[in-house]
Parts: sequence; C-alpha cells; structure tokens
Amino acid sequence: MDDCIFCQIIEGKLPGTKLYEDDSVVAIKDKNPAAPVHVLIMPREHIPSIKDIQSSHANVLFKMFETANNLAKELGITDRGYRLTINCGPWAGQSVYHLHLHLLGGRAMSWPPG
Ligand code: 5GP
Ligand code: ZN
Repeated sequence: MDDCIFCQIIEGKLPGTKLYEDDSVVAIKDKNPAAPVHVLIMPREHIPSIKDIQSSHANVLFKMFETANNLAKELGITDRGYRLTINCGPWAGQSVYHLHLHLLGGRAMSWPPG
C-alpha cells in the first residue's frame, strides 16, 4: 500500500534497519526504541491489524513468532526473558496500521502495562 510506512520500508522505498527478511516476514529495528532491544516483526502482506487475520494467515503468523524467538536468541535476551506485544486499535496504542509484533527486551518490565 502506497500510504503505509511499513509497506514502504519493506519495499525499500523508505529507510529502515532490517534485521531479518524472507519471503513472508520482515523484522526491523524500532526507530523510537522503548527498550534496549525493540524489534518490529511484520508480514510482507499488508494486513492492517490483528483483528483482520484469517485462517489463510496461519503460516505467516507462525513465522512472525518464530522470527521473534530466533531474533531473541541472536540478540541474547532469551534467558532473562522478553515481551511480545501486538497493539490493536486506538485504545491499545496502535499507531501504524500494518500488523506488527513488538519484540521487547534487555531490561526488566512491569505489569500491567500502562
Ligand atoms: P504501534 O504503536 O502501532 O503498536 O507501534 C508502531 C511502532 O512503530 C512504534 O514503536 C514506533 O516507534 C515505530 N515506528 C513508527 N514509524 C516508524 C518508522 O518509520 N520506522 C521504524 N523503524 N519504526 C517506526
Ligand atoms: Zn502496509
């Protein structure tokens, strides 16, 4: 989608630090990190939000979580733990309407979130 910043980063039309990509998912560093490790894992396909998923997305959703786990290992945050978050809609704080999984780690986190 032309007006989606994540589609444009995926397509290389906007800059972004890619940590992983394959034919179905792309992982980039968050430009405004909320933790020492803050990676966004997203499908190449423009799915606006987690509420829009269908059974045809099963493989790419698995791939997103598998990629998050692999990157957590590579980045050395597996043993102490990390958080995987998907914000859905305005009250959850979703600001970019291209589905993405936040991988957050490298510091202790509190619960519940704000
Ligand atoms: P949301 O609030 O939708 O769950 O998360 C959007 C995330 O995307 C935020 O953490 C924000 O810092 C990040 N973000 C917004 N615009 C850009 C961008 O142009 N490049 C990168 N790398 N991250 C972005
Ligand atoms: Zn998009």
